Amino acid sequence: MEFENVIEMRHISKSFPGIKANDDISLTLRKGEIHALLGENGAGKSTLMSILFGMYEPDEGEILVNGEIQKIKNPNDATRLGIGMVHQHFKLVECYTALQNIILGFEPTKFGFLRPKIVRKSLEDLCKKLNFDVDLDMKIEDMPVGQQQKVEILKMLYRNNNILIFDEPTAVLTPQEIDELMVSMKKLAQEGKSILFISHKLNEIMTVSDRVTVLQRGKCLGTLETRDTNPQELSRLMVGRDVELVIKKEKCKPKNPVLTINNLSVYNSERKKEMVHDVSFNVRAGEIVCIAGIEGNGQTDLIYGITGLEKVKEGEIILHNSFAKEYIEKNELNKTPNIVEMVLDKVKFGCNFVWYHICFGCLYAKLFLEKYIKIGCNYIVNLVRKLFKKSAKPVDFKEFPTYIPFNEVKDQPLVGDIHLEQLSIRDRNLRGLAHIPEDRHKHGLVLDFNLRDNIVLDTYYSKTFQKYGFINNKAKAEYAKKVVESYDVRSGKGIDSIVRSMSGGNQQKAIVGRELNRETPLLIAVQPTRGLDVGAIESIHHHILDARDKGNAVLLVSLELEEVLNLADRILVMYNGEIVGQFDPKKTSPNELGLYMSGAKRDDVNAIL
Ligand code: ADP
Ligand code: MG
Repeated sequence: MEFENVIEMRHISKSFPGIKANDDISLTLRKGEIHALLGENGAGKSTLMSILFGMYEPDEGEILVNGEIQKIKNPNDATRLGIGMVHQHFKLVECYTALQNIILGFEPTKFGFLRPKIVRKSLEDLCKKLNFDVDLDMKIEDMPVGQQQKVEILKMLYRNNNILIFDEPTAVLTPQEIDELMVSMKKLAQEGKSILFISHKLNEIMTVSDRVTVLQRGKCLGTLETRDTNPQELSRLMVGRDVELVIKKEKCKPKNPVLTINNLSVYNSERKKEMVHDVSFNVRAGEIVCIAGIEGNGQTDLIYGITGLEKVKEGEIILHNSFAKEYIEKNELNKTPNIVEMVLDKVKFGCNFVWYHICFGCLYAKLFLEKYIKIGCNYIVNLVRKLFKKSAKPVDFKEFPTYIPFNEVKDQPLVGDIHLEQLSIRDRNLRGLAHIPEDRHKHGLVLDFNLRDNIVLDTYYSKTFQKYGFINNKAKAEYAKKVVESYDVRSGKGIDSIVRSMSGGNQQKAIVGRELNRETPLLIAVQPTRGLDVGAIESIHHHILDARDKGNAVLLVSLELEEVLNLADRILVMYNGEIVGQFDPKKTSPNELGLYMSGAKRDDVNAIL
């Protein structure tokens, strides 16, 4: 017997320490429909879907699959019931090929032997049907993210899943890939698959979904038929207030250049390939320059070169820092230390050294007690000896970057035209560069630190957070609280929350707050709103515009054309490691930019810059 509702979730609640992530949520999924789940970052969407996929058990409530109550205790139970999930962060084995990943756990055998060939043909047919250009023999680590996602989808279909959950599938895709995914999802629904689709991009929801359920701070606000609603209503429901979908901005009044890039080439040491070839441009005070392009055309490497994450091969990066006088004076970076201060610096360094030894000593003692008390007293005597040996070991300074004395590089100027090419990342930061990195987990945060420590991650050594040479925890907490409040970073335990447990959007807001709050003359923002909801996007766009209006220079890299056209004062298109065109956002269109982004058209670079 066929049921109209393939899934029925009834009164689901789930709490995590300090937060009720799902509060009495009910939802139904009809056969053959695309059901969108909409909500701000941290609204509880992933938690609800993880419950359906058996990754968490709900505290309360029940789930019916095809009309029968089911206990879904783990993902294997879910697979057995025909439920599959493509996670926000893919769960593939990087060193396996696409085919190996697809069949993993459900390997086809003949007479007890592995026979992947049996399924190859049907997988190839499936790829053809869905228009997927996936090479089944390519390793996952060599694939762009768009293809990795297709492998995840194939994996669900190979397991005969009829209920497909997509957790923010478009967050990592280019505009073209997003269109392709929408088409594939529609095809799958037409074949009778039922799809749950998490997104906070309203236009996607409007194009692809049949119904939409809105969550707000863990609560369900109801389910609407998509054709009866519109983006404005959805955004109001989701955020709880009216949202500006297109930002209003003042005319840009650019002044002198803050950043000049001359003939820059960057070599990518991982890919062993030159990714940026002979690029020149500048960014002026009071303007937002946006680099548009399809992922993998050298934008990442260009930014790595400028920020110091990758060494540059050739060329100049010059920061004209004469605009940053106030910043320098505020942070007392321009003072040449006199003899007393130099001695004081050394004393402070000594104090810190001792202080860290005490901290590490305590840490060792804590670990020691926790681990070994259970084992028994005899053991402890032995282990005390071990501990003694450990603390007697000479400390390797290189292991602990916090031992570096403050403001160490005195032979490079802090004001004027500064060449950044050879400077360390910290020295670039000190001279007035702020960076919102592309990969927030790898370069933006220390996930196991709390929010407070992450917010002072690139300034903790400055005078503001020192007291008698020690780190001033009170100042740190006050500063972090201010940033958390003004950038609306939400989490279970405020500044004491461990960043790993926070939702992606709030992690991003923490980075944006940390970097923008320093008010540096140059801001480099790479995909600052990736994966964020409209409310958060609106607030981040406002903060970036504020930075521009205060006279700072902003270099923005974004894959979202909408964002590029919305924010930029000048657009540079990058293709194959080169800048191939310069545009005024008011005089161009997504179509024209698309032609340059795909390499179909280019202008003479020397003539335009
Ligand atoms: P969404 O997917 O809507 O952005 P999530 O479901 O990921 O939101 O998170 C909802 C809330 O639950 C967030 O505040 C998040 O910090 C919290 N949360 C999610 N997973 C965990 C976890 N494993 N431990 C603690 N808190 C969590
Ligand atoms: Mg989520």
